[in-house]
Amino acid sequence: MSIRADFPILQRSSRGRPLVYLDNAATSQKPAVVIDAVNNYYQTCNANVHRAAHELAEQATEAMENARIAVRNFVNATREEEIVFTRGTTEAINLLANVLSDRIKSGQDIVITELEHHSNIVPWQMLAQRTGAQIKVIAIDDYGNIDLDDAANKLTPNTAILAFTHVSNGLGSITPAAQLIAQAQAVNALTIVDGAQAALHLPLDVQALGCDFYVFSGHKLYAPTGIGVLYGRYDLLCELPPWQGGGEMIEHVSFEQSTYQLPPYRFEAGTPNIADAIGLGAALSYLQTIPRAQLVSAEDRLVTNALSELRQIPGVRIVGEPEQRSAVISFLLEQGHPNDVGTLLDQQGVAVRAGHHCNMPLMQRLGVPGTVRASFSLYNNDEDVTRLLEAVEKASTFL
Ligand code: PMP
Repeated sequence: MSIRADFPILQRSSRGRPLVYLDNAATSQKPAVVIDAVNNYYQTCNANVHRAAHELAEQATEAMENARIAVRNFVNATREEEIVFTRGTTEAINLLANVLSDRIKSGQDIVITELEHHSNIVPWQMLAQRTGAQIKVIAIDDYGNIDLDDAANKLTPNTAILAFTHVSNGLGSITPAAQLIAQAQAVNALTIVDGAQAALHLPLDVQALGCDFYVFSGHKLYAPTGIGVLYGRYDLLCELPPWQGGGEMIEHVSFEQSTYQLPPYRFEAGTPNIADAIGLGAALSYLQTIPRAQLVSAEDRLVTNALSELRQIPGVRIVGEPEQRSAVISFLLEQGHPNDVGTLLDQQGVAVRAGHHCNMPLMQRLGVPGTVRASFSLYNNDEDVTRLLEAVEKASTFL
């Protein structure tokens, strides 16, 4: 109960009933401490950063750099210079797909998986088009698990990059990240992990994982929208060219040529999203007050209960039965299109997502038009599960 009380929006109603928010894979709600941190920044020390000629600028810079340290600790990076602030996962992947251009030779492979979100597909297609590289896709089985034999076939000495999701936003599958990274390293491929769905739900340790890059969005872990993270190994970041040019990222500029800052500033051209970086720092501090094991087991219990009850409802088909699942249930009602089911749930105050979830190729692979997705977070409770089940049962009688 105390956790729910930390999130003011959970007090509101939706369609005349208490809100049941089960669209956490799209974005999480924000605790008051995060909203207050953003407010407090604007009310007390709003100023541009890194050009501190006055007290406000000094305080804003310190607050933002403290957030970078909080992220470093959260992912267990070796130093804060390995943390680049971006707008989110999408921008972080696009940044990489641009700065890695020079490392990709025509004919080399960029390997992804069938589970990927569009933002971990399209930037690589664009890079492949520019460089003459080709995309190879590691298969999943019908349950939504990565096929490790296929991974072994697809990862060859011709692989330049392996980019894959840590947790599938469509099915909730937890991928065997450490194993995939080891396989990619064995063929000298760079490894990029899309942690958009994992960062909140799984313990995160980039050193233990051994990946070269790890990316995630703040808004899925109780932080504001518009702020995200690119973690990169420092030696690698130092070797990479900038992406966008402008203020902040330079060391010296003349009309003839410019020299660039060291990471992370080399990759942070222009005035950064100071307020929301501070909000991200506050979200990570908040998360630290809740033991990770408690968070995961609370979510797992709700998901397990919801799954077994949903299976009892006539006409419900669970889409994806991965061996390891995190916080997401995708399902269909035989009687109706997922969008119609989503609307019927919404009418009962239950917020879920319906559609392809930016996973069109995955939906195609599974032979479904889309799914209804209920995704859980720490503040969900048994009452939310009961309301979901009631709403699905009612929807099934309408369709
Ligand atoms: N990857 C995955 C697995 C996601 O779930 C999402 C968000 N749905 C993204 C990437 C893109 O994140 P963002 O829109 O915050 O950039």
